[in-house]
Amino acid sequence: MAALIYGGRVPDQARFLSLITGSFSTPAGENPTVAMVEAAYEHHHINARYLNCDVTPDALGDAVRGARAMGWIGFNCSMPHKVSVIQYLDGLGSSASLIGAVNCVVRRESSYIGENTDGKGFLTALRSVADPVGKELVLFGAGGAARAIAVETALAGASSITIVNRNPARGSKLVALLNEKTPAKADLVVWDRAYRIPETTSIVVNATSIGLFPDVAGRLNLDLNTLRPGLVVADVIANPPRTWLIRDAEARGCIVLDGLGMLVNQGVIGIRHWIGIEPDPGVMRTKLEQIFGV
Ligand code: NDP
Repeated sequence: MAALIYGGRVPDQARFLSLITGSFSTPAGENPTVAMVEAAYEHHHINARYLNCDVTPDALGDAVRGARAMGWIGFNCSMPHKVSVIQYLDGLGSSASLIGAVNCVVRRESSYIGENTDGKGFLTALRSVADPVGKELVLFGAGGAARAIAVETALAGASSITIVNRNPARGSKLVALLNEKTPAKADLVVWDRAYRIPETTSIVVNATSIGLFPDVAGRLNLDLNTLRPGLVVADVIANPPRTWLIRDAEARGCIVLDGLGMLVNQGVIGIRHWIGIEPDPGVMRTKLEQIFGV
């Protein structure tokens, strides 16, 4: 393999010494990120590996210390480590610090810096169908994915965001963050009945885990008659990509965006951070489509 040059940090990559990246989460067995990222490495002839690791919460500190010891150039964190990983890092990028969660750790010099690429990945996918500037959003959920999406769409110019969440305390925290730290106007609807999407809404996003494998029959408590033609409906669930929300919305003439777009685009940003190249998102999406048979 030819010498690999990235960001001036590794002038001559040894032939039998791969750059190491990966993911720490649990459960990890159904996370397809490894296949997507390694497809990009292979396509761009990068001598790097991505190791999908099942790491329990009590082992996270050791996992990060192990990554440091082995010289990993970075790693993803997924459920349930996105907040707890912060204590093991040397600093946070601005998005991660505002969102309060890290999904991508990047080695800079000898420090591990936490970034959040979930929201930016979502935004890139969203912009392929709609520009959020001046738009009213409805966002289901107030967990890590919802916080990342809400902050980035607010900073990107959405005029208002209605957070619809079952747990009022979690929902209020996100609403307060948006109202205090972003220009968007945010409000909370406690999700205790079938939600009716207001007519002024342009973009609806499911950022809950409803519909995630293996609970693929999961459906949002939503008045389906309020899904109207032309409404943009996005789902964060990538496994499976065709959730009930996507199918219901498509059947009613909405413009739909599945969770693969967000997954691919956060992966693109991660590879850019780690390796310093611009990977081809088409290669990454094709690999995921092969996996999910879509
Ligand atoms: P969290 O556990 O932080 O948050 C989960 C959210 O879902 C909470 O708001 C919770 O509500 C809500 N929720 C869960 N079950 C129900 C239910 N039965 N009824 C109503 N609300 C429910 O998870 P994350 O935010 O980290 O992840 C959420 C989803 O996003 C996951 O499925 C994950 O796979 C996906 N994701 C996809 C990405 C992609 O690239 N496509 C990237 C990141 C995440 P409450 O507060 O009331 O408990």
